[in-house]
Amino acid sequence: MRGGRVAVVGGSIAGCAFASAAARAGAGEVVVLERTSGQLADRGVGLAIHDDRAAELAGTGVLAPGIAAHRLTRRKWLVQDGDSRTGRVMWDQPFPFHSYHWGLLWRGMRAATPAGVDYRQGAAVESVRGYADRAEVRLADGSVERFDLVVGADGYRSVVREAVCPGARPSYAGYICWRGSYPADRLAALGTPADGGTDWPTTDAVTVGIPGGSCVIYRIPGPDGPMVNWVCYAVPPETGLRLDDPTSLPPGGVTGELAAHLAWLAQRWFPPYWVGVIGLTPPERTFVQPIYDLETELTVGERLLLAGDAASVVRPHNTSGAAKALQDATAFEAAWRQADSWDGLLRSYQAARGATGRELVALARRLGLAQAERTPDWSAMTEPAMTAWWRQQLDGVADIGGQALPPTRESVPEAPR
Ligand SMILES: Cc1cc2nc3c(=O)[nH]c(=O)nc-3n(C[C@H](O)[C@H](O)[C@H](O)COP(=O)(O)OP(=O)(O)OC[C@H]3O[C@@H](n4cnc5c(N)ncnc54)[C@H](O)[C@@H]3O)c2cc1C
Repeated sequence: MRGGRVAVVGGSIAGCAFASAAARAGAGEVVVLERTSGQLADRGVGLAIHDDRAAELAGTGVLAPGIAAHRLTRRKWLVQDGDSRTGRVMWDQPFPFHSYHWGLLWRGMRAATPAGVDYRQGAAVESVRGYADRAEVRLADGSVERFDLVVGADGYRSVVREAVCPGARPSYAGYICWRGSYPADRLAALGTPADGGTDWPTTDAVTVGIPGGSCVIYRIPGPDGPMVNWVCYAVPPETGLRLDDPTSLPPGGVTGELAAHLAWLAQRWFPPYWVGVIGLTPPERTFVQPIYDLETELTVGERLLLAGDAASVVRPHNTSGAAKALQDATAFEAAWRQADSWDGLLRSYQAARGATGRELVALARRLGLAQAERTPDWSAMTEPAMTAWWRQQLDGVADIGGQALPPTRESVPEAPR
């Protein structure tokens, strides 16, 4: 199928990938409607993509080449252990991921968007509506535009989702994460161990276990050199903040109570070196994100299609958000190439991606339960106990980081509409 006018609502990671995929597949006109003006600012800064998923996505051309990535190979699960500077290693787990700086990833994806794509900024979409033969987009300025297909790549508070699955909203998981980042050269302030060795190899990701939570720490590339990036999950203190409505507190917007609680958690439960690592974060680079999840039965409606976080909101423990958004674009492009009608394209996409979001949400819930809601007694955990605990969370899934891309389907069954 060739031609047609396609709108992509949202111009972030999923939006750029879908706009490029539509242009490559043969759309006549592709318009991206992004509400932000200027550069999209980083929120939490770091993310990671499993090496196998990155290789598949580079192979399909969806992950743009040349984007800075930092190699990670091991994940050390640590727990406080008396005076031990770096803590006791409960488990040294293989961790075949590369980490990314969100802003650099977005800039790379944006730069790879074909010049023919009309990427409009300051274009906030108020609502969309799908019909049998078209979709209509109402913009905040009151204008209405008509398209052959509208892709919702507008994130966790998607307005396109509202048209596909009315009333579906992310639900609060009962805990939050604090996130932070800073240039890695600051680590020099923590000194080196007495024997002159290295406290923290650059290829190690670290997870510190604390009662009722855990903190993941790894390096990422940055615009001016390597950076430290961390995410700490725990139940917040009572602050009166409303967390049941999808929201986030921007860098520098973290309240005194939330900042003090994080400092207390670190001081009380982290091994000394890692207290220092968290403590080096400037307040203006600390950020809080309540954890939500949402699964939807449908990823398509009449001439409407959901992508990335708009289709499903997965807790971050799974390390799959960006990879899943890029895989959605791969599946969309493959479905387009095989389709001879808009309906066929939508059915193929639903068949390829409908279950994926739900399965990722379910896995991330199990991970969240084990790593934040009902953590084990970390002090008693040994390598055999950790591997059994991990297998239980995976429950038959091969690994975290997202699912392998299936081979392209030849025939597509009728999907529920
Ligand atoms: C600015 C920004 C920074 C981020 N930083 C990080 C990070 O540092 N680390 C990390 O792990 N994840 C980050 N994320 C989330 C991460 O990008 C996603 O989880 C994942 O990549 C899938 O993204 P997505 O494109 O589906 O959704 P999102 O990344 O949420 O993108 C949605 C896009 O849609 C736009 N949009 C929303 N509503 C409308 C509307 N009504 N009209 C027009 N446009 C609309 C938003 O401005 C945004 O650009 C960030 C997201 C954004 C938007």
